[in-house]
Amino acid sequence: MYQTKDRRAFLKDLGTAGLIMGGAGLPIAGAMTTPLRTEKPLVGIQISPLNFLDEGMEACLGRLETAGINALFCYSQTYHLSYNKPVSAFASRPVQPRSFAGRGLRHQWIQTHPEFYKDTLLSHEKPNPAHEYHNRDIFTELLQPARQRGMKVYARILEASANRRDLIPNYEKVLTVDINGHTGRGPCWNHPDYRAWISGTVKDLVTHYDIAGLQYGAERTGPLSYLLYRGLVPTCFCEHCTRRNKAKNIDAGRAREGYQQLYQFIQKVEADVLPADGVLASVYGYLQRYPEILSWNYQWFQADNEIHQEIYDVAKAIKPDFEIGRHVDHQRSSWDIWYRAAVPYSDMAGSSDFVKPIVYHDILGPRLRNWVIKEMHRHAWRDKTEAEILQEFYALFGYDSAQMPALEELNSRGLGAAYVQKETERCVKGLNGGAKVYTGLGVDVPWHLPEGGMAPFPSPPDVLTAAIHGAFQAGADGILISREYEEIRLESLKTIGQAMAAIHRP
Ligand SMILES: [Zn+2]
Repeated sequence: MYQTKDRRAFLKDLGTAGLIMGGAGLPIAGAMTTPLRTEKPLVGIQISPLNFLDEGMEACLGRLETAGINALFCYSQTYHLSYNKPVSAFASRPVQPRSFAGRGLRHQWIQTHPEFYKDTLLSHEKPNPAHEYHNRDIFTELLQPARQRGMKVYARILEASANRRDLIPNYEKVLTVDINGHTGRGPCWNHPDYRAWISGTVKDLVTHYDIAGLQYGAERTGPLSYLLYRGLVPTCFCEHCTRRNKAKNIDAGRAREGYQQLYQFIQKVEADVLPADGVLASVYGYLQRYPEILSWNYQWFQADNEIHQEIYDVAKAIKPDFEIGRHVDHQRSSWDIWYRAAVPYSDMAGSSDFVKPIVYHDILGPRLRNWVIKEMHRHAWRDKTEAEILQEFYALFGYDSAQMPALEELNSRGLGAAYVQKETERCVKGLNGGAKVYTGLGVDVPWHLPEGGMAPFPSPPDVLTAAIHGAFQAGADGILISREYEEIRLESLKTIGQAMAAIHRP
């Protein structure tokens, strides 16, 4: 767990020792020479409708201008949120931010039309006069003031979480089924009603709102990764997945048996009952005995690709110039090798106008330490020490470990601009001009405090500046400031504005 004071002192020490070259290897002094692939790069920001409504539209847009923002990525649904983020996770503003917790807030921010949901048993949260802001239509209200400032408006959709059955009528009927026949995590990507609901929502949005485009994405990985990294029970084995995979000549019985055996094995590893041959060797044994494990995993990711293609196709059929973007979550972009292998960037070109890889350089430090390496060490990588896992991670993903944080530094130091540059470069090369790349930069993303609660994990201005330059040096067409506007400190908005002004300078 980090402490702001300690972290600042640590960064200062690094700077004094000459170790900060713009975060990792990028000289800040040379930043003015960053070449641009496009004349007018997109400088977007991810933002909630609540930020505009709570802060006031004019005040909020004015603050965004300080960062040189020219594109707003505003949630059209907030079904992934439980609105329980502590107010300590918010950055300070001239007027104290209002907590989301304990308020009667809506999760559906567009006006829906029943004709788009005829082919699905799902519908949307109904308008409720008891909800705060129930009569506001953010995507209509935002257009004019945004245009006056030269800002484009995009909708941002994140997949709804599994516990949204309280809000989305019939949602429980489309949820995944695990190897034991129990309800699993999130909706099934192969469920026809779920797919029709997503398509209907996109059609509704494209038809009724005069916005530039949308960004869509889910933040879930596949059954194999959930099992090997985190020991979670594998999904999905519902009738739709079984039918789909049978058509691909994959035996559902063998796949289920393989996953059951591997799951039981990983449970033993968790309990410290270890095999003589080594944990990873045993895992590879299961994969060879039951190649259906791999096939089932691969097909799961293909279903997600098909959803992206359907979104693209239905939107383009209505408005050919409506831009479709793909949100690539942090595990796909940055550590989950199975996910990365199954869904390469090159596969995303035909279903996206732009791709936004999440490359949150600062918060990746503590995320890697606590979400990934600790969990890997408890499961399929049990034979390695955490320090060894980190070194292997650096080698596998092509980082110079001498420039990267050591294990004990990860809670207070991120992976810096070199990581942003490398992952942006990977995305640019993979897409090979097939879609634009908007690097998703994480700024002040909150982390847990030692005493409990959360607070923004502050992005040092020099590292942030170097990260922005790193993205453009790698060939990005723009940057998308993330995770949420409400978490980003005013100081960071200013830093972004200054960095972009320097890049624009001839
Ligand atoms: Zn399924």
